Amino acid sequence: MRKVSLFCTKCGKAFPVDSSNFRCDICNEPLELELVTKGKIREGNILRQSILERYADFFPFKDLNEDISLHEGFTPLIKSKVVSELLDFKSIYFKNEGENPTWAYKDRGTIVALQHALKLGYNKVGTVSCGNMAVSVAAYGSRAGLKTFIFLKENMPDEKLGPVAIYNPISVKVQGFYGDLYDKSLEIGKKNDIYFLNSDIPFRVEGSKTISFEICEQLDFAVPDYIVMPSGSGGNFRGVEKGFRELKNCGLIDKIPKIICVQAAGCSPVYNAFKNNEETIKRVQEAETIALAIANPFPPSGNQVLRRLKENGGTCVAVADELIVEAQRLLALEGIFVQPSSAAPLAAIKKLKEENYLTGNEKIACILTAGGLKVPSALAKHKFQTYDCELENLDQFIKTNFLN
Ligand SMILES: [Zn+2]
Repeated sequence: MRKVSLFCTKCGKAFPVDSSNFRCDICNEPLELELVTKGKIREGNILRQSILERYADFFPFKDLNEDISLHEGFTPLIKSKVVSELLDFKSIYFKNEGENPTWAYKDRGTIVALQHALKLGYNKVGTVSCGNMAVSVAAYGSRAGLKTFIFLKENMPDEKLGPVAIYNPISVKVQGFYGDLYDKSLEIGKKNDIYFLNSDIPFRVEGSKTISFEICEQLDFAVPDYIVMPSGSGGNFRGVEKGFRELKNCGLIDKIPKIICVQAAGCSPVYNAFKNNEETIKRVQEAETIALAIANPFPPSGNQVLRRLKENGGTCVAVADELIVEAQRLLALEGIFVQPSSAAPLAAIKKLKEENYLTGNEKIACILTAGGLKVPSALAKHKFQTYDCELENLDQFIKTNFLN
């Protein structure tokens, strides 16, 4: 590991990088790696490189364990054709994170945090999740041959359990208040030498920076005016925002996009605090939304998201489930199928245009965090038209009904 430090995002207290301290022992706010101020993007062929190799200057690792990579990242940035026309925008791009090895952006943070865990000599890892992160950690834990603990919600539906269990981790459905499991897991990890790759731990945040790096590369460093992204725990927001700041520090871009942080109206602790200009988030009592992946009633990085959002000059939006479902349908018209929480940014764009916050002339990149097959039950919210026809009548049926 290079000589860098972890700092508390609130009080600034420094912690050594070769430890698994994830939160400040004074204010319990998340720790973060110091900002990179010098570096460049490595040359090379991304068909053969890993994100850790290409962006090595932005990580503190001196050498890499490449064997555990599943070639995460390097996801496409797709220019909108259908949606931008429908909503009257000049320039919307979709960063499709559903094309990661476990179909969500989580793999970026998992590979980076796993490097850290291995450098520190851990042979046991774990996470607390009821969705995408559990799948990602289970997959990479298996690949790396580590004993892997996944703490799940007690009433986890089979639809979500199967994609975790297939990798054969130690899956534990924990009875009790799920919101307390984050802190509990870190405590168990410390006592038992298990590295918990939770949602917003410092090295997971570092992995999310690569989303910004790729967007800049894909746009030839002509940075978007806005990044629109969903936010649950706040870890991904922190990484994406930090990534742009580091590129600017290194002289690779000349401005930092404003970030629009999107939450579901049925669970919006960050939005509630932002709207009321408060410095700390309050726990949401009852989360009720289709966008389960971002329904975190008490985001562990919520306060840091508020701090960074203020500095960044962006905004926070809460969108209702009806809008999310509509945005999911709109994205499908574009040819992209995402899970409900990943449709929330497009719902926000539409809402912000109606409220005249956006004019339609801005250059916008939307981060679509995970693929649609992650939550097949959401398909029940959509109406489909299908037809029935006998084989011998098919030719005539098509001619009569669709070709006249
Ligand atoms: Zn502190």
